[in-house]
Amino acid sequence: MARALDKSRPAIVIGSGPNGLTAAACLAACGVPVNVYEAQPTVGGGCRTTALHGPGFLHDVCSSVHPMGVASPIWRKLKLVDHGLDWVHPDVPCAHPLDDQPAAALFRDVDETAAHLGEDGPRYRRRMAPFVERFIDLAHDGLAPLGLPRSPLLMARFGLLGFRSASSFVRGFRTERARALFGGLAGHSVLPFDMLPSAAIGLMLGLAGHAVGWPFPRGGAQAIVDALADLVRARGGVIETSRPISSLRELPDDAQVFFDTAPQALAEIAGEALPAGYRARLMRYRMGPGTCKVDLSLSAPIPWRDPLCTKAGTVHVGGTFAEMARGERAAWEGRLDDAPYVLVTQTTPWDPSRAPAGQHTAWAYCHVPHGYDGDRTEVILRQLERFAPGVRDVIVERSTMTVPDFERYNANYIGGDVVGGAATAGQLFTRPVARVSPYRTPHPRVFICSASTPPGGGVHGLCGYFAVKAAGYDPDAALSV
Ligand SMILES: Cc1cc2nc3c(=O)[nH]c(=O)nc-3n(C[C@H](O)[C@H](O)[C@H](O)COP(=O)(O)OP(=O)(O)OC[C@H]3O[C@@H](n4cnc5c(N)ncnc54)[C@H](O)[C@@H]3O)c2cc1C
Repeated sequence: MARALDKSRPAIVIGSGPNGLTAAACLAACGVPVNVYEAQPTVGGGCRTTALHGPGFLHDVCSSVHPMGVASPIWRKLKLVDHGLDWVHPDVPCAHPLDDQPAAALFRDVDETAAHLGEDGPRYRRRMAPFVERFIDLAHDGLAPLGLPRSPLLMARFGLLGFRSASSFVRGFRTERARALFGGLAGHSVLPFDMLPSAAIGLMLGLAGHAVGWPFPRGGAQAIVDALADLVRARGGVIETSRPISSLRELPDDAQVFFDTAPQALAEIAGEALPAGYRARLMRYRMGPGTCKVDLSLSAPIPWRDPLCTKAGTVHVGGTFAEMARGERAAWEGRLDDAPYVLVTQTTPWDPSRAPAGQHTAWAYCHVPHGYDGDRTEVILRQLERFAPGVRDVIVERSTMTVPDFERYNANYIGGDVVGGAATAGQLFTRPVARVSPYRTPHPRVFICSASTPPGGGVHGLCGYFAVKAAGYDPDAALSV
């Protein structure tokens, strides 16, 4: 279908998550009049910071640590740092405590990490170092939709090493510390560890840790979306909050519409503007396991038994690789595990602006079966206590977000899936529906730009950027002026 590019045609973005706002900022940079409609009272989607327990303590409600954000090529071009975004780096990107031996850690430096891993150090170094050196090229191709890579040899080498399961990847390691460290990275894929491409996602995050770090914005994740919203407004864009869209009929006929929504919402909102077959495929899109999260206000930092963990912004709590593999497989299959993999972030040791003097905030979450409506607070706290004895004594206040809470908070979190759908081999690059451009729909003016498009979940804005490019605009050219 012919797609005439008409810059005077207004653009509407439904949803103000990091991808929606990036799409809006790119459209505005291209001179397109843009309106953003957000269902909730504030902008940000999965990237908001709130005083959940009253004034004084600031909590990242969803995302907290942003390796892909600091690496994002479009955010570098948009110069978010000129709009108040200030990245704060912890001493150590991430650590992984174990019961019977010292914690493993991913340091910024590959050599330091290799030395710390002992017997597995040389193998770790051989696998990581060549890609760390070329991480920006790798991110350029690896975080782009399928197409001709800019660095085909590099991508081929990465594919050979990473396009496999985490279980297969760690077979080459002899020590539990190296296996567990990689398992903690692969757990971010929300896939069973014996499933493709859990290794690639873990590898990408590990490489990012060495190349660009795992930082967080000073003041909270909200600073990212506030910077994006600032850019949109500075270029004449309008953002309306508390404005849920339920039908295309609510929008001007001639508008181009970008959906920062779940694929299922695109099908429902666009209705008969899209062919029934395409809508059916959107409705069959596979969401992954859910999430149960505990937010903590603390009178002291988390009292990790292993001092290395106190230096890390992110701590992967889950014990051995086998234990984490069991827990992640259980969540995938709709079962509960009593010692799940728990992701913990603590930012206040490096960003004291988020809590009263000497006090702290942290969050911890685990994956649960899709749609599970129970509360896993006790299980999460037990796992924390296992490696941080006495943690309950420093909790001033705590609150929990279960799957139904997440669904109420953000319509995109269907069944508690917070990363925009299962990152299986069949869905990672072709999400939400396999098409030449997954951002385009059969309707010439309707696009999807959420984490349910490549490169998928995480706070990086790239889905929004690629959707705007798929609509025929050239934000790179506009931003280089
Ligand atoms: C607990 C948790 C921890 C996370 N941790 C991290 C992390 O540390 N690092 C990281 O990179 N990522 C993390 N993520 C994932 C990350 O937040 C998401 O992948 C990211 O926010 C996706 O961005 P998005 O723009 O696609 O969608 P979202 O951020 O989900 O935004 C979508 C927006 O669209 C709005 N919307 C939906 N439907 C409508 C409608 N019909 N009308 C109007 N508005 C609508 C929603 O209200 C929402 O504001 C985490 C997520 C959660 C929940």
